[in-house]
Amino acid sequence: MPASPRVFLVGAGPGHPGLLTLRAVECLAQADVVLYDQMVSSRCLDFAPAEARRVCVTELAARHGLCVVRLKGGDPFVFGRGGEEADTLRDAGIPYEIVPGVTAGLAAAVCAGIPVTHRSYSSAVALVTGHEDAEKGASTIDWSVLARFPGTLAVYMGVSHLLRIVQSLLENGKPSTTPAAVVQWASTGKQRTVEAPLQDLPAAVAAAGLTAPAIVLIGEVVALRPRLAWFESRPLFGKRILLTRPRHQADDLAQRLEQLGAVTCNLPVVEIRDPADWTPGDRAIAHLERYDWLVFTSVNGVDALLRRLRAGGRDLRALGHTKL
Ligand code: SAH
Repeated sequence: MPASPRVFLVGAGPGHPGLLTLRAVECLAQADVVLYDQMVSSRCLDFAPAEARRVCVTELAARHGLCVVRLKGGDPFVFGRGGEEADTLRDAGIPYEIVPGVTAGLAAAVCAGIPVTHRSYSSAVALVTGHEDAEKGASTIDWSVLARFPGTLAVYMGVSHLLRIVQSLLENGKPSTTPAAVVQWASTGKQRTVEAPLQDLPAAVAAAGLTAPAIVLIGEVVALRPRLAWFESRPLFGKRILLTRPRHQADDLAQRLEQLGAVTCNLPVVEIRDPADWTPGDRAIAHLERYDWLVFTSVNGVDALLRRLRAGGRDLRALGHTKL
């Protein structure tokens, strides 16, 4: 039987923990060590065991005998050097598994309401880097070919070179009115989108102050955004909400708030415990029939009283004479 993988090369998606794949969560759950990129959202790390070591790295490292999750933003093989890392593992004879992730270019389009392909507008999409390795010297990107590409362009790492990219496309015949957009921090509570005709995009992006990480989307499909934008129009979009309830009671609320677009953060400031001394409580419980009213201030009070009643061999019938 082949050795089971010791290293999982896992795509973490574009930032929102809900966009981790089930396989990514399974891998994280068994990690001894998580080596993550700076781009990976800290909320994705919550799926690793509390005792797992979390190390922010740019270089690959693996320790003998440990289960290592190498967590990379987006998809490991899309501008993520996943190919090089897998090759290094292969050379070292370390068994590995690679888990695909939701790549930022496609996630940014979805979260901005821009369908990268569409039967009426675009039958192809190109994933392009706007930032090439300086060591490569001359650009390997042929912008004259991309200017004629019959579909949507999704440019990664392009926002700091936006002016040069747009100029290259325009010089090579891309129509200056082509709809275009830049999506920053896609899928997160910090998402921002700027749209403009291609020739005006650099100025609009500079005016709005959008910087990396961002995806540049260029093509007719961008014109569909005003109708399809959904992410940024949710009622609580852009709001960060601190939940101070005990963790087990915050989850349901968090889920409902997140569905409305909020980002939630758990900081339980309340801990629910039994009283150090039950004597006064037990005395009252023993004589419940003497009380006219029983007032509960929270679900925790209800839980505690019912548990205590049951522990004493009684049940709800003990409250039969009392108004609640
Ligand atoms: N492997 C990653 C890409 C890594 S290159 C993937 O598949 O998504 C890093 C670039 O990805 C950033 O410069 C930016 O262009 C893009 N990016 C990553 N996360 C992003 C996000 N949440 N919003 C917008 N762009 C993002």
